[in-house]
Amino acid sequence: MEEFLAGRFDVAVIGAGHAGIEAALACARLGLETVCFTINLDAGGNMPCNPAIGGTGKGHLVRELDALGGEMARAADKACIQYRLLNRGKGPAVQSLRAQADRREYQKIMKHTLESQEHLTLRQAEVVALRQTDGHISQVVLRTGAVFDVRAAVVATGTYLHGRTIIGACTEESGPDGMHAATALTQSLVDMGLDLRRFKTGTPPRVNARSIDFSQMEIQPGDDDPLPFSFTTTQPPMNRAACYLTYTTPETHKIILDNLDRSPIYSGVIEGIGPRYCPSIETKIVRFKDKPRHQLFVEPMGLDTEEMYIQGFSSSMPEEVQVQMLHSVPGLTHAQIMRPAYAIEYDCVNPLELKPTLETKKVEGLYGAGQFNGSSGYEEAAVQGFVAGVNAALKLTNQPPMILKRSESYIGTLVDDLVTKGTNEPYRIMTSRSEYRLVLRQDNADERLCPIGHRIGLVSEERLQQVEEKYAAVAREIERLTHTGIPGSESLNRLLTDRGSTAVTDGCRLIDLLKRPQIGYRDLRSFDDHCAAMDTAIAEQVEITVKYDGYIRRQMKQVADFEKLESHALPPDLDYSALAGLRLEAREKLNEIKPLNLGQASRISGVSPADIAALMIWLEKA
Ligand SMILES: Cc1cc2nc3c(=O)[nH]c(=O)nc-3n(C[C@H](O)[C@H](O)[C@H](O)COP(=O)(O)OP(=O)(O)OC[C@H]3O[C@@H](n4cnc5c(N)ncnc54)[C@H](O)[C@@H]3O)c2cc1C
Repeated sequence: MEEFLAGRFDVAVIGAGHAGIEAALACARLGLETVCFTINLDAGGNMPCNPAIGGTGKGHLVRELDALGGEMARAADKACIQYRLLNRGKGPAVQSLRAQADRREYQKIMKHTLESQEHLTLRQAEVVALRQTDGHISQVVLRTGAVFDVRAAVVATGTYLHGRTIIGACTEESGPDGMHAATALTQSLVDMGLDLRRFKTGTPPRVNARSIDFSQMEIQPGDDDPLPFSFTTTQPPMNRAACYLTYTTPETHKIILDNLDRSPIYSGVIEGIGPRYCPSIETKIVRFKDKPRHQLFVEPMGLDTEEMYIQGFSSSMPEEVQVQMLHSVPGLTHAQIMRPAYAIEYDCVNPLELKPTLETKKVEGLYGAGQFNGSSGYEEAAVQGFVAGVNAALKLTNQPPMILKRSESYIGTLVDDLVTKGTNEPYRIMTSRSEYRLVLRQDNADERLCPIGHRIGLVSEERLQQVEEKYAAVAREIERLTHTGIPGSESLNRLLTDRGSTAVTDGCRLIDLLKRPQIGYRDLRSFDDHCAAMDTAIAEQVEITVKYDGYIRRQMKQVADFEKLESHALPPDLDYSALAGLRLEAREKLNEIKPLNLGQASRISGVSPADIAALMIWLEKA
């Protein structure tokens, strides 16, 4: 193909998926001339799997991204059609928002946001090669022969790189949803010395709602008081759709077990490594043999479509078997498949090739984000796109990088897990991945991260002041509750005894009432006018801070200990093979990862506490 120089940009983003969108918007909003390439403009912001945003741990990521100045939360609040706060009955550390999205509406909103963004050029094209000059990224080449000079590039190619879809014995070179695969770029990345591997993921069938008997299922309505994802959303969201719950049957399990030899997972057709925490229905039935049935959630794909997504039925079984499987499920006995379930294999990079800024160690100015980095999920992709985009922009404008710590965010935890520990399967965030769950709640993401969003230039002064004022008001209210007493009364004691709490004889302080597990801030409203008038978001923070005070203090102590180790910086070009006292495995791993500080070094698998002690001695001497 004859090449021609088609233009010059500061940053090229390859991909307009969840990662590419955040990377492109961050770079353009920080004033960098940015171009965003995608194989199909109509698939920008596509949700090739469940039409939902959030979930355990994922809801935290969306809120954190919003606090930093990212886009996903705002678009979700415009496009979501049903909201649920998961783990509502449990503590605030694991409560996480999840919402059904109107898939087409979400895409429309994101495409228009990209099109309307100053300093951003959106282009439909396949990138077939990347070039470097003296170890620094320099050019992007399109299948058309167009060549662009660039100062940085973000690879956010999702599940498209050498995409291969699998339905039984039928395999096809393809991206998701019938989009064409990216077939050339992999070689260019390999030529740059990057270590690529093959991962896999899968999705369930889509069925026509007209062919479903919902009377055989349990309706799953949205919450009465839905919460928005974005801290900037002022209008409470509305539930405009419902989901349904049904279950597999012994017949379903028999059909799958009888056809296991035709499953590409078990017949060896699939080579890529799949996600442990999003297993196919075949894997679930094999792995959990004793479980009599598995939940299936029937979810709408949008308001203006009959397409229903069968969550929990991800598979790559032959179509004929998929039909039998579906028809064995209550409510789906006459289901009409609109899109069959399938698995997809794709190339992605070994995340140990990346620095905590998501820049590659081998090619300066080249960044990775999203599924390409070995993660799985829209939310995981979006936050990495943001981190990569922001760091590309900060580097090009000679500003210090944005490296989020494990102790201040799930985003920092996710990135650190990927670039320090690596992953051998698609990585999915969960609250259990964090040591600091109680301080990294979804409700206080603004307090933790808006100051950083402001520092990097993506959160306005006005918004930062609003957040500071909110938490100052929280502190003032806690102070007020501490010094405000109310007299004992019949109505107060009736409430306490009804809730199984001890009645009071004389008066008591409001804060002591709130500390009682049975009493919420909402209950104080009938005894104190000030409480009655309090803003909901401030009341929520007051309640959590007062009730979990002891636990939060203990966790903050752990954070302080963590910070101590993180504060011991290590030279990025240190040759560990020459350091005394280190075991061979530790030397190799430390030289491969090049940790930024002792904390990161201590999290590398194969580096023992004795090795860390040896490093500390070296640091003291050095
Ligand atoms: C079948 C399937 C099942 C899934 N199942 C799950 C699941 O169960 N759980 C879960 O959490 N996640 C699942 N996902 C993953 C989820 O879709 C992704 O995590 C998410 O979309 C990743 O976002 P991304 O931005 O990294 O990539 P994508 O959303 O895939 O976007 C990639 C973008 O890159 C562009 N692109 C790629 N190569 C090139 C090129 N060479 N030139 C120009 N543009 C290019 C594409 O056009 C697209 O715009 C599944 C995905 C698929 C396809």
